[in-house]
Amino acid sequence: MDTNTADKLHHNIACSFCGLCCDDLTVQVENSQLRITDNGCDLCQAGFSEPLPPTAAVNRQPQINGHSCSLDDALARSAGLLRDSRQPLFGGLGTDVAGARATLQLADRIGAIVDHMNSAAMMRNILAVQDSGWMTTTLTEVRNHVDLMVVFGNGIAERTPRFYERFFNNAESMFGHDTRQRELVLIGASNDNELVQNSSRITRFPCAPEQLGTIAMALRSLVNGKSLQTENIAGIPQSQLLELVQRLRDARYSVVTWNSSELDFPHAELTVQACCELVKDINIESRCSALPLGGSNGDHTFAQVATWQTGYASRFSLASRKPHFDPLLFDGERLLSEQEADLLLWISAFDTRRKPPLSAVPAIVLGRAGMQCETSPEVFIPVATPGIDHSGHIFRCDSIAVLPLQSLRASGLLSVAAILQAITEHL
Ligand code: SF4
Repeated sequence: MDTNTADKLHHNIACSFCGLCCDDLTVQVENSQLRITDNGCDLCQAGFSEPLPPTAAVNRQPQINGHSCSLDDALARSAGLLRDSRQPLFGGLGTDVAGARATLQLADRIGAIVDHMNSAAMMRNILAVQDSGWMTTTLTEVRNHVDLMVVFGNGIAERTPRFYERFFNNAESMFGHDTRQRELVLIGASNDNELVQNSSRITRFPCAPEQLGTIAMALRSLVNGKSLQTENIAGIPQSQLLELVQRLRDARYSVVTWNSSELDFPHAELTVQACCELVKDINIESRCSALPLGGSNGDHTFAQVATWQTGYASRFSLASRKPHFDPLLFDGERLLSEQEADLLLWISAFDTRRKPPLSAVPAIVLGRAGMQCETSPEVFIPVATPGIDHSGHIFRCDSIAVLPLQSLRASGLLSVAAILQAITEHL
């Protein structure tokens, strides 16, 4: 066995199960079973420790219509389905950099529509950026500089569990700032203050998610010196918002953050845009940056690779041999429910729970070994998980750093990139 994948303790391992991509995990490997023994969180423990099914298990075997088959038969059948499809949809897209590159190569070859499983959340940020831009910072800058953090949302700790531990509660900063003096403002229904250890200066403005945009717009007005014709904004006294505006002006390095996955209500991109514009307004007199948090199932990775190759992050078609972006027309769920796509290629290498949506459209599924689809797809091919079964690369949610992932066990499974290249050779 490769000494790199033998049973042992692995140190400084990067995690791919949320956009923070923590790279300080210690992982114990014993008989192909993984366990986090140092650092980590519940989310990564669940991702790393998911058991590898026995070699003979059905969901570790390639299948055609629910019957085990050889890998070569599964590849040939997949190639035949793709060749005959007139409007194929590539969805899921939970993979690493190499998998994303192979996906786009195949999509370009056959003229597919491409839509990541997290596109609804991704579009809330992307539409705001496309319309008016944003001024963002990086996780490293936040860790070392922030003195006032304003969180819009219901609790970023649920989806990025170690955010406060690594980027707000850090005892030391690179430039010797006293991190205990940091201030936190929680706008929304968040209980994140329970996780904040350093700061005694926490302010809470409870509100419903749909009111976050109203509060951001009110703050913009006050930053710009306008008065509001009301005493309360979403239940918050105007005087308290004026105090926050003064704190933002006085801060040395303030940060406004949110997770677009939480903003699950109509036209939430306008809430994101209000936060982004608030940051710009504060920068006229002081310094402030936006920090869009989030990420799972390789969404930031796919967005980066797709953007550098096509100019678009998701929801585009390569059918006319040039990228055509349309966030409504190329919404994968809509294409499936209205049967405008005639074939789905679904990729989910990180999470067995992210299965293809139920639809009448035939599917080829490249799923993490152990995935149990609701109904048997035309073809199921179990794939290796990046950072567990094979090495690779993944982008952090600030899109500034790409983290190397290691192979921790010898599962014998092939990566998404290898499977897609093999399918392409069968075309
Ligand atoms: S916070 Fe995210 S990246 Fe860090 S260990 Fe947990 S799941 Fe992994």
